[in-house]
Amino acid sequence: MAQTPEMLEPIDLEPGETGGNGRGRPDGPLLEVRNLTVEFPTDDGIVHAVDDVSFTVNPNETLGIVGESGSGKSVTSMAILGLLPKSAKISGEVLFRGENILGQSEKNLQKLRGSSIAMIFQDALAALNPVFKVGKQIAEAILVHQDLNDKEVDDRVIELLEIVGIPNPRDRAEQYPHEYSGGMRQRAMIAMSIANDPDLLIADEPTTALDVTIQAQVLDVLERIQDRTSSSVMLITHDLGVVAGVADRVLVMYAGRQVEMGTVDQIFYEPRHPYAVGLLASLPRLDRRSDKHSRLHRITGQPPSVVFLPPGCAFHPRCPMAEVPGICDHERPDLRLVGDDHWAACHFSERLAEEQAVALGETEARS
Ligand code: SF4
Repeated sequence: MAQTPEMLEPIDLEPGETGGNGRGRPDGPLLEVRNLTVEFPTDDGIVHAVDDVSFTVNPNETLGIVGESGSGKSVTSMAILGLLPKSAKISGEVLFRGENILGQSEKNLQKLRGSSIAMIFQDALAALNPVFKVGKQIAEAILVHQDLNDKEVDDRVIELLEIVGIPNPRDRAEQYPHEYSGGMRQRAMIAMSIANDPDLLIADEPTTALDVTIQAQVLDVLERIQDRTSSSVMLITHDLGVVAGVADRVLVMYAGRQVEMGTVDQIFYEPRHPYAVGLLASLPRLDRRSDKHSRLHRITGQPPSVVFLPPGCAFHPRCPMAEVPGICDHERPDLRLVGDDHWAACHFSERLAEEQAVALGETEARS
């Protein structure tokens, strides 16, 4: 059913008023993931869900993690939150404010979840309980981590609904989830997620089920919350277009590995991995420099099984630049520096850069 776009309410708070939780943010990265590897034993073999992934999220930064389903992006976020099943074999380190939280007790992780690190899920309808009023559900999220009296909780519920731009928050707090539109439910869930001023918000496909207008509004809410709380955001999506106007840096994942990482400008204007180029080529229209170039790099086929990964570079069966037989189906490319803090895992990143320079020259010569 088509959603009716709602107008967002302006946010009247001053920067810092909702405060973040002030729990001593470090000078260094807020989150540092080092060599994270996650495997699941199955009857068919070992699922290599996440393979040696390392990245950082800095204070007040938005990191977009992009990839198709099965790329390992959601498993990465679940590993950070300690939400993977016991059967998962996890190695590496997840440092949150300098402390390794991987393998911590469930009690410690529960304290962390919802207070310092909060998750925004894709399906707001499933995350909200249909039999309780929205205001009551937000109040419960507050009371899990904060000792406030009834009036303070009520005030905070209204404040949170205002922050996420829900009009008439006092009336809306008394309504049930089914009385909200899809976009409003998503914002109510965001209100629950930020109830305890988390330092890090992990948003897993927060806009996938929403139409384009509501998507834009939800992303706008996320951005405005970040401006006011100085929180960091990890935005997980299959859609590179979603991160365009929101993320500071982007990590592109494929078949459990990171294949490219850089600033949003580097990924959009100087991609150094054919998979990132293919994702860009599939976007409706951005600043694409050459239609011929983008046609050449459109990705066909399906992502590989993470049980039986192709030899060499896992992308080679779909890669328009693959040297096969040759290095691409024999040698797995390492993630290496290809620019200023710009990383790519491709044997032919430099050739790709040359192609792009030629394509850009052709475009400029035509115009
Ligand atoms: Fe394509 Fe080869 Fe680069 Fe892999 S290493 S992305 S197959 S060119």
